Amino acid sequence: MMRSVRVVLGIFSVVAVCVLTQRALSQTPAPSKRIVIAASTMLDGTGRVLHETRVVVEGPKISAIDANAGPVDYDLRRLTVLPGWIDAHAHITWIFANDGKNAGMAGTTQEDAYQAASNAFVTLMAGFTTVQSLGAPNDLPLRDAIAKGWLPGPRVLTAVEPLVGKGEQTGTPEEIRAFVRKQKEAGADVMKIFASQSIRQGGGMTLSQEQLDAACDEAKKQGLRALVHAYKQAVRAATMAGCTQIEHGTMATDDDLKLMAEKGTYLDPQAGLVIENYLLNKEKYLGTPGYTDEGFAAMEKVLALNHDLVHRAAKTPGLKMVFGTDAVAGAHGRNAEEFIDRVRDGGVDPMAAMVSANSLGAEALGMADQIGSIAPGRQADIIALDGDPVKDITAVRRVVFVMKGGVVYKNVARGAIPAYAGVQP
Ligand SMILES: [Zn+2]
Repeated sequence: MMRSVRVVLGIFSVVAVCVLTQRALSQTPAPSKRIVIAASTMLDGTGRVLHETRVVVEGPKISAIDANAGPVDYDLRRLTVLPGWIDAHAHITWIFANDGKNAGMAGTTQEDAYQAASNAFVTLMAGFTTVQSLGAPNDLPLRDAIAKGWLPGPRVLTAVEPLVGKGEQTGTPEEIRAFVRKQKEAGADVMKIFASQSIRQGGGMTLSQEQLDAACDEAKKQGLRALVHAYKQAVRAATMAGCTQIEHGTMATDDDLKLMAEKGTYLDPQAGLVIENYLLNKEKYLGTPGYTDEGFAAMEKVLALNHDLVHRAAKTPGLKMVFGTDAVAGAHGRNAEEFIDRVRDGGVDPMAAMVSANSLGAEALGMADQIGSIAPGRQADIIALDGDPVKDITAVRRVVFVMKGGVVYKNVARGAIPAYAGVQP
């Protein structure tokens, strides 16, 4: 008897190890068990609100929305249930060094890697199940470690190395095309292009129309979306070049916004968090490359210009405004502050703000059939807030439940995150 029990246990542990190895080697770990989630208020990610319903999850995907499904594994009634958010613009490996100073996103030490892993963890805990990192080559190992289930974090898409406009020095159209192909070969999910100087330096154009045309056309040929850092005139130039999405867009005119709406070009403006974070962490950034006293003085003005842009964009019929924070060191895990900024300072409708980080965000990534909505067949990326963001946008700070790909990473009691939770990094 004893002996056979031992044999059975021995076999069991071998099987268990195999299962774990399999999980680590496949995508994110996923339970095979059927999970039923009960919701009293559910935003499906497309703008619809469902009441008193249940979501059935099997493996990594949602298999049904069925009010009669049971037994209930997670009772999320009295919360607001919605799809995990998508941040279209983050810099997930951007960190502060041990001396407390801005260290950028190219760190290569073990400590740097742990900090990048921490950025990923706090971003996931804040309800963001997918982020697009724009971008750094060391996004790649982080992206892959998360995908293998080695680390908890959001699904990461990366631009690897961006194309930085430097006028003529950027290269000929042929050289630019070769650079785009190099990123594709390196494993890029998307192409990032800088067509303007930093707004702190005036925001002038750094690529000609011909260079932009080449960059965005080659990206399209390689099956990559092209996201362009653009201010002022560069917004129109990138739109004319057929690029996919404009990042920032500060000082775009109403006509530029109208043209973007006509052409289906996505706009990813920032209503506050990125600049608020710089101001909050001024001492950590000041004196590091690109951060001067003059630059900081300009930021306050830029913040007002960005509020104005988001106000005008929200009123432009048909313009697709996605959610991107431009999260750098100090902002990771506080990405949702940008929702509050958009609603409070940018005049964005709260439901539109949610959709911008759900189904519209997924559409902009070309992943609408996989993420961004709660529907059968989609990845089971589901979060719950203690509060209703449509009535009180600050509820986005109170993420009490996070599931990604069918795995629950966070499930804390209602009330565990105080209503005044907030802005400190
Ligand atoms: Zn950025």
